[in-house]
Amino acid sequence: MRKELQVAALENGTAIDHIPTDAVFKVVSLLQLQKLDNRITIGNNLNSNKIGKKGLIKVSDKFFREDEINRIALIAPNVNLNIIRNFDVVEKKKVVLPDEIIEIVKCNNPKCITNNEPMKTRFHVIDKEKVELQCHYCELKVRKEEIELI
Ligand code: ZN
Repeated sequence: MRKELQVAALENGTAIDHIPTDAVFKVVSLLQLQKLDNRITIGNNLNSNKIGKKGLIKVSDKFFREDEINRIALIAPNVNLNIIRNFDVVEKKKVVLPDEIIEIVKCNNPKCITNNEPMKTRFHVIDKEKVELQCHYCELKVRKEEIELI
């Protein structure tokens, strides 16, 4: 038991906590964790007093930029971020949806220029509470349940 905890403990890095269980692997891909060489621990269906079951991701020696981390708000708005240095939590952050989402969400309009030209998608966040986006180019509105990640 003690040994297990040792393996999972982070000396320095970021712990992403309270991830809904169905969003854990989407968070992995949104943050492109599969491309990192850092030591990564992924836990899912862990018991949580707050939300029943939860997911948790720990990334050693990695401190994400705000714009990287805020992408998570698209799929998991209530995630907690713990910044850890020397085994201590030195900062706790909540993810916040940015005003603009670039590149990571697909426009659902097949006629949209972003689906027909090699270019990045761009969305304005028009409702941060409900998570509603609007395509910068064709003005199509995309609601949370319709969001498709690229
Ligand atoms: Zn569009």
